[in-house]
Amino acid sequence: MKKTKAKSRSFNKLSSQGKPFTRKIKKPGRTDANKSSRKVSNKVAKKLKTLRPPELKRMILRPFLEDKPGRSFLQIVRKAPERPDIFNSADVSVLRYTGDRIKLGEGSSATYHKAIATKTVTRKDRGPDTTYKQIIFARDPTYKGALIDCPQIILHCQCARHQFMWEYALWEVGAANIITSNGNKPVETNPRMRAGCCKHAVMSYLKLKERKI
Ligand SMILES: [Zn+2]
Repeated sequence: MKKTKAKSRSFNKLSSQGKPFTRKIKKPGRTDANKSSRKVSNKVAKKLKTLRPPELKRMILRPFLEDKPGRSFLQIVRKAPERPDIFNSADVSVLRYTGDRIKLGEGSSATYHKAIATKTVTRKDRGPDTTYKQIIFARDPTYKGALIDCPQIILHCQCARHQFMWEYALWEVGAANIITSNGNKPVETNPRMRAGCCKHAVMSYLKLKERKI
């Protein structure tokens, strides 16, 4: 019990209250073909456990816009460009996900939203693997269903692509908080303000869909 609590706290500092639940991703079946790759992934997972996970920045520069229509996770993933995001999502795997509620605001104005935090790793041919965390939560605090069916979600990823391309564009449609970017329009990286997402979010979406979370 203690272990689960500690894990959840370090994994998602934004969350509080409610009983956290952690589920491990089911390992693939034992076939000769994936035996070696499983060994590698176990090694990576072990290594990651010893490393301190990067902290999510808690400071929200600008909160999501409630008067905007918002987006479902599927709508956002559909806007992700085929290259590089959809294509490169094949290199990403979800290490684990934690379900919890996220607390927004303070005092009597605090709201608790259904949330999922995922941790993904990208294995590279060259250079070290990279891990990032994503947070997906329902915009409506009263929403109780699966996040995959939620009509309005708020998405965050720690990666640079989210920061420089997607965060502002998602914020503009009411599907993100401004957290890691400086809050300026991405005039060079995303001039059309396409409300898409990074490869990590694409893989998280596929995992959540598979699990019907
Ligand atoms: Zn990302």
